[in-house]
Amino acid sequence: MMIYPISHINTHIPFKSDINSKKEKNISTPMKVGIGTLSALAVTSGAVLIRRKAQKPMIWKVQEDFSRIFGREFTLDETRDLADKYKRIYHNRNTATYITELNKQLKEDFGYKNTNITLNIDGTLGAWDKVNGRLHVTPADQKTHDRVLHRHKRDIFVTMVHEYTHVKQSEIAYRTSPEELNKALIKRNYNANLNDKYSPEKELLEKMAREQNLTLEEAKEKRLEELYNSPNEYRLKWMDEAFGNMEKFQPYTEEYMRGLSYIEENGKYVSAEQNFAEYRKNWLEEEAYLTAPFAKEIFSYITPIFR
Ligand SMILES: [Zn+2]
Repeated sequence: MMIYPISHINTHIPFKSDINSKKEKNISTPMKVGIGTLSALAVTSGAVLIRRKAQKPMIWKVQEDFSRIFGREFTLDETRDLADKYKRIYHNRNTATYITELNKQLKEDFGYKNTNITLNIDGTLGAWDKVNGRLHVTPADQKTHDRVLHRHKRDIFVTMVHEYTHVKQSEIAYRTSPEELNKALIKRNYNANLNDKYSPEKELLEKMAREQNLTLEEAKEKRLEELYNSPNEYRLKWMDEAFGNMEKFQPYTEEYMRGLSYIEENGKYVSAEQNFAEYRKNWLEEEAYLTAPFAKEIFSYITPIFR
């Protein structure tokens, strides 16, 4: 979904330790440091102060940032090679070219080189549509249709890392249980309809409860069961193609437990427009927002302009 400024990042977010591997625990320490540093910058958000304090991050920091974002280890040499690729992409001046090149590289580094993910530069700041496999990204400033400015390059980079983190979450949820993920997506859509004054679902539910002498809660459960079994409500066609050939996770492995939490959060997800506080609290978003400090640090390393 949409990206909001760094000041929204809560400095006291507990990392979900129950779903972390040792590997992740190792790299969660620099993450906290990163967030602390960034919130300090956010507090003293005068540009002059930031410029005076600014320093290019060390290569080993970038090594950790890449590991944290892409979920695998990199040697220092690999880190330098990878940073060089992003440096070259940075030098693109045309908005569409910059975004397209960046998408190609991130897609590969996140492990989706051969996956059909459609890139859309269509006015949406940032969004991942897991039902259709569409990634949306657009610079915030519409005046920069052709020429992409430094600050937009940075926002776009941070946004795309955020959205690809959602792609990864979708993959892990799918490989944990496609059936349960499909139910969660149906439930999420149904709840959104119940809260939508232009949708007939709420009236239908009340009518059903009245006629069948059920409580609203019972009627809702019954209605959801109908929807779960309806072929029209199947939401995993794209994911079947993208992730269907990947091995499923064994129950109670770390990935599986992680997938279960993603599925649960998918069921509870509300859009930022509907309820910003709820949206921002959702673990899918929380985790994706947590990549911002790492992405920003990488960006500081790859760009020749430092501010
Ligand atoms: Zn998001």
